[in-house]
This record gives sequence, structure tokens and C-alpha cells, in this order.
Amino acid sequence: MTSFFVHGKDSNLNKKNSQSYNNVRSEVFMDWQKEDLKYIWHPCSQMKDYEILPPIVVESGKGINLYDVNGKCYKDVISSWWCNLLGHSHPRINGAIKKQVDTLEHVIFANFTHKPAITLCKKLIKYLPQGLCKFNFADNGSAAIEMALKMSFQYHYQTGNPQKKRFMALADAYHGETLGALAVGGVDLYSELYKPLLLDVIRLEGLDCYRCQWGKCRDCCNCECFEKAEEAFKKYADETAAVIVEPLLQGSAGMKIYPPLYLKKLRELCDKYNVLLIADEIATGYGRTGKMFAFDHAGVSPDIMCLSKGLTGGYMPMSVCVTTQKIYDAFYDDYLKGKAFMHSHTYAGNPLACSAAIEVLNILEDEQIIPKAVEKAKYFNQIIKEKFLPLENVGEVRSIGLINAIELVKNRETKEPLDYRKRTGYQIYKKALGKGVILRPLGDVIYFNPPLIIEKEDMNLVTDVALECMKDVLG
Ligand SMILES: *Cc1c(COP(=O)(O)O)cnc(C)c1O
Repeated sequence: MTSFFVHGKDSNLNKKNSQSYNNVRSEVFMDWQKEDLKYIWHPCSQMKDYEILPPIVVESGKGINLYDVNGKCYKDVISSWWCNLLGHSHPRINGAIKKQVDTLEHVIFANFTHKPAITLCKKLIKYLPQGLCKFNFADNGSAAIEMALKMSFQYHYQTGNPQKKRFMALADAYHGETLGALAVGGVDLYSELYKPLLLDVIRLEGLDCYRCQWGKCRDCCNCECFEKAEEAFKKYADETAAVIVEPLLQGSAGMKIYPPLYLKKLRELCDKYNVLLIADEIATGYGRTGKMFAFDHAGVSPDIMCLSKGLTGGYMPMSVCVTTQKIYDAFYDDYLKGKAFMHSHTYAGNPLACSAAIEVLNILEDEQIIPKAVEKAKYFNQIIKEKFLPLENVGEVRSIGLINAIELVKNRETKEPLDYRKRTGYQIYKKALGKGVILRPLGDVIYFNPPLIIEKEDMNLVTDVALECMKDVLG
């Protein structure tokens, strides 16, 4: 026990929070924040920032609330990095996992299978865009993207087009952090440094509805920017295996939203040039855009779809890469032909994750979660517009489903961004954390992406807090 004992008095990490260490164990005084920083390198963080803002030690969660070790409540309106779908510690999902863990925790997924995985596929297939019917499991979003890229290349390789080995992706795309996923990504913050290591990807430029180069607006355009895609296809389609998109919503780019027509046009172009269309629905799937999948808005199907995040309700790391019979068939042959997809992840098809994913679908169905979320989204968007649009520095409020983003700018007319060195978004984030609301802006885009079960009372509360903090910081 004494080895856990840490003197808090020399902690210069967070003096204000100094009582926070007391409640953990009555007999042992433990500075968890300090202990954390001794061992842990947090994701996507400049660890020096933690000197001023140490990690919040979360003890429990319920619904959209998280509670730290002092019992302070935080409203998780970013769904814990967009994955928590139905609230924390959901009794039904908890129950499903508990039941599964006493039966089978994990088993090798090559040559072995289990009821939870089969049941999940049978259920999920009913919701997927038409034609998607073969499920390949992995354990995180980036891994599903890697799989989609390799699968696309191999599909063409085995159907007489080995020259198709490049990929197209949207400007400002985000598809994850592993090297292949990072390469198709286009957010410099994450990928710029690693360029020497990355595939040479063909970038489809121009899709940026807030700063549209054609002077159009999101709801009244004919996707004039699509001419850029047409040019790229004319030039490069013969060497391209697949084009990958985040449908309708480019999350990490700053919750940029574009119209479904773009996807429709892209589908046509892909068919014309024999290029596969990969839908990265890792962030947009499971009702985030108001429909089960963002592709549903466009009424067309991709050739490959990647799912993760909401798939397990945000409970367990799991992803799937779903594809068509046609692609599956291109890999199906006698073993010695060497056409198999030799890709595996140790935790593929994990039964615990599958049991959570099945229960998520049951809850969506039983409780009509998505239609209700669509209703609530109208209210959420309305109060956000009312509260934030009057602010001088608010360039745009954009929304899709329950996702609402507020882009802060220096000048509303010219849409000139704020000076990024001021880290305005980060200042607002810190202030809001103090008041118990988790915002985690993308640069100077403040957004809400709450679990679908958020209620009006919390919508009012979190928007009030965000507004107050924004006014404080902007002065
Ligand atoms: C989060 C995300 C990924 C990566 O998923 P990880 O599980 O974090 O690897 C890929 N694409 C999109 C659109 C995402 O939002």
C-alpha cells in the first residue's frame, strides 16, 4: 500500500484541484494526476500542455455524464471522441457484455466462429446500403481503412488491372493514423510531418462549402466543385484502385459538411472508370447524420464501407470492413491460386465487442433512437443558431443530425480565420471544462457531437456554458 503513497505537496501540476486526490481511497492518499503523467503518453496531445491542464481522472459515467474522482460532473457532448452512441454505462449494453463474458471472451477467428459475430452480421446487413454483404472484422477504425485499401488494390490486381494501385481522397480528409490511413488523410496537422513515409495519393480538391470557390452555398449548388474530381478521374483513373471519402461530414477537418449530390456524382464516376468507392462511415455511421448511414442520404451504395466508433456504442474497440459479393468473389478460388485476402487482426470478431454491437442495434430498434434524435436535432440546431449567430466572430453554424459546429473567424465578411497561434478554441475548451462541459474543439471550430440520447435540458445547459466561455475568451 505504501508504495502507492505519493506526496501531493510537491505537485505543481494543478494546485487548484489539490483536494481532488483525497476521495480516492480513504486510507491512501494518491495523486492520480501526477501518477498518470509519470507513466502515460496521451493520444494526440502535446504533453507539456498537461502541466497546466492535467488529465481529468474519470471514475464513472452515466448517460451523457462523466464523473471524476471528486464527483465533479462533465457533460460528454463530444461522445468521447465521437464513439459513445447511447450514453455511458448503458444498462442494456452492460448486461449484454456481462452475459457474454461468462460464456466466451475471445477465440481465434480463422476457421473458428461464434454466434455473436454471425448474429451481428445478420442484423447489421438489414441496415446497410444495398449490396454490402460480406463482413471482414478488425479492431479499430484505422485498421478497417487499411483493410479497405489493400482489398481494393488486390481486387483490381486479381481482375486484370494490376496497374490500379493508387488512391484518391478528398482534400482535408481524415481516415485514421496508421500509415495507409494517414496517407489518404489530408489534414496537415496529422500527416504533414510523415509525408516522406506516405503513399502518393491523388487529392480531389475544391470541396469546401463554407469557403466555396464557386460562390455557391451548400443547399443550393450543383456541386460545381465536382469538376475537380472529373479532371482527376480523366487523368488518373486508370492507375487508381479506389477513391475514399468521409460521406457528407469531414469530421477532423472541422466538421465540414457537404451535400449528398457529391456522393451520387462520385458513384457514377467510379462506375464509369472502374474505380472502387470506399465509404469511411466510422464517424458518420449509426445515426450521427440523422440517418443510419450518411450514404443513405445519397441513395447510392459504396463498394466498401468501414465502420467503427458507434458500432459497439463506444464500448469496445471493433471495426468492420463490409463489401460486396462481387469483390468477395474476386478473392474466392483454390488455395494455390494465391488469391486469398491474407490480412488478419488478432482480436478480429471479438465476441465481447460483438455482443455490445448486437445490443446497440437492438436498442436503436426498440427505442426508435434515430427518429427521436432527428426530432431533437431540430431543437438543438435552433437554439445553437439563436445563441451563437449573433456573435461577431461566428462565421458559420453548420449542422447535420445532432452534430452542430460553430466556426469562429476573425472577420465574418472575408471569412478570414482567427490567428491559430492564439489557440482560441483551446482557451474555450479549458474554460468549458472548468464548468463541466467537454467541448474539445477542432482548431477554432467548436462543435457538439453528443450521444443520440441527449435531452433538451442538457442541450440548453451545454450551449449556455459554451456561449458564456466563448464570450469570455473572445472578449
Ligand atoms: C476516428 C476515425 C477514424 C480512425 O478510427 P480509429 O479507431 O481512431 O483508428 C477513421 N476515419 C474517421 C472518419 C474517423 O472519424
